[in-house]
Amino acid sequence: MITLEVDGKIVEAKKDDTILSALKRAGIHVPTLCHMEGLPPSGACRLCVVEIDGAPGLTPSCSFPVAEGMKINTRSPRVIQARKTIVELLLANHPDDCLYCARNNHCELQSLAHNLGVRQRRLQGSKAQHDMDVGSPSIIRDPDKCILCGRCVRVCEEVQGVAAIDFAERGAATFISTAFNTGLNLSSCINCGQCVVVCPTGALTENSSVEEVAAALTDPDCFVVAQHAPAVSVTLAEEFDIKTGTDVDGAMVAALRRIGFDRVFDTSFTADLTIMEEGSELVHRIKNGGALPMLTSCSPGWIKFVEEFYPEFMPNLSTCKSPQQMMGAIIKSFFAQREALNPARIVSVSIMPCTAKKFECSRPEMTQNHVPDVDYVLTTRELGELLRRYGIDLAAMEPETADTPFGERSTAGKIFGASGGVMEAAVRSAHFLLTGREIPELKIQPLRGMQGCKELRVNIDGIELGAAVVSGLGNARKLLDEIRNGRDDLHFIEVMTCPGGCINGGGQPLNADIEAVKKRMKALYAIDSKEQLRVSHQNKWVQKLYDEFLGEPLGETSHRLLHTHYAKRDVLL
Ligand code: SF4
Ligand code: SF4
Ligand code: SF4
Repeated sequence: MITLEVDGKIVEAKKDDTILSALKRAGIHVPTLCHMEGLPPSGACRLCVVEIDGAPGLTPSCSFPVAEGMKINTRSPRVIQARKTIVELLLANHPDDCLYCARNNHCELQSLAHNLGVRQRRLQGSKAQHDMDVGSPSIIRDPDKCILCGRCVRVCEEVQGVAAIDFAERGAATFISTAFNTGLNLSSCINCGQCVVVCPTGALTENSSVEEVAAALTDPDCFVVAQHAPAVSVTLAEEFDIKTGTDVDGAMVAALRRIGFDRVFDTSFTADLTIMEEGSELVHRIKNGGALPMLTSCSPGWIKFVEEFYPEFMPNLSTCKSPQQMMGAIIKSFFAQREALNPARIVSVSIMPCTAKKFECSRPEMTQNHVPDVDYVLTTRELGELLRRYGIDLAAMEPETADTPFGERSTAGKIFGASGGVMEAAVRSAHFLLTGREIPELKIQPLRGMQGCKELRVNIDGIELGAAVVSGLGNARKLLDEIRNGRDDLHFIEVMTCPGGCINGGGQPLNADIEAVKKRMKALYAIDSKEQLRVSHQNKWVQKLYDEFLGEPLGETSHRLLHTHYAKRDVLL
């Protein structure tokens, strides 16, 4: 440890700290815009400047190392004026749209202007004008609200390994663009929404379906069914300023009924169904020499990533549809028959932590007789908006349980929401499918946690299985490259598009740091530790669905409704 003097007080720092990291640990807040936790500093925005004794000018704290005895001033008049001028310059090239902006009240630029006391337009200039990019089913881009912080570019390239967007042009003409400025829809974008999560302003938002769902809820001809993904109940609380990591499952179900949904189902049910199908598929591939390692298929950004960048691995992808699409398919087939409903009358709404799910439900193969299995996807954020619009106070809702037959789930289905959860659920059931006996220890610790890559070797009755779990597609890229280069000890790989899994999805509440994401993960495992039904194959409603409708895993009906296929995609760059 070394000692610094900050604003006249002694502060301890680690030798390898930057000034910013030392200040953060000491509880001293310095504003930033371009800074991203876990990535090297870019030093672009200069908002984090401080004054160092003896230095000629102001110093960006994010990219300057600490030194023993350094004297730092974080709030001198010069520092505050410099920060204020930067924000004034940004606002001079920014629309005055706050009241109409999706990020109103959740915008870092707005907060900075407020906190730095910007109360009048001191600097005037001509404003950049670009067309909005509205072609993507998942993401809307409004370049006029972009402040060129570069966070979206960095997360897309350095975390997700996609590089769909980058800076274009130079100087005052600079803007963020896709290759040849064709729009996200025609780019290599895999719709993950991680750029939306890191964007400090309203330049990036999800392509909202709130209006369409609100219209369906008031249309007497529509039978509106909701399904909610495993990760949503442990994050929706944040939209209502309830403590991070609170599971609001029952209150959310009650709220959905209150605003007019005719049925509320739990996507964790079809996560259990996925385990039955995917587990059987894995066992079939191992016993019959199918393509290995088998790759999970529940994360739609990852599927598009393989189709674009690694098409030679398409045979390795499980053919199982994602739990969202399985639920959509059985709602408009089995459930419609059971309730004597015309599937065309059913409006199937999926509440997801994910913006890529909006793209997934629009894929042409996700239909039956030209009727889409899922009509609309709402992100967790959009659900928060919809509930607030209807005046719902989530904290005051009396908890209710989801509807039968698709409201019953195991906790194995619930932990799908965290990276490693699918694999843990699969190993629990694979043990039973291969041996006829339950696994002795349900908790599989090596598969848990926020690490980007986790591995497990497991021996089930003499069958040695190599399993890997990766999250964040940059990590998936590394693993696929190892396999391309000859690695052959893995049988099953779980890939989640977003770092940490769906709890950190592109549709989740904004402004969550790593500690908040860990709390969300902890909440899922807490549910798993306290409930009785913890393996997918014991879900009696899943068994009933096979008995009454599907027949058997990998059977003809399952193949028709629950499985899909993939297609190579060409990318511009
Ligand atoms: S991005 Fe922020 S500052 Fe700009 S219009 Fe939206 S809320 Fe206002
Ligand atoms: S949605 Fe994902 S892939 Fe698309 S631009 Fe944003 S970060 Fe990149
Ligand atoms: S779109 Fe958002 S994240 Fe990307 S550079 Fe602009 S303001 Fe920053």
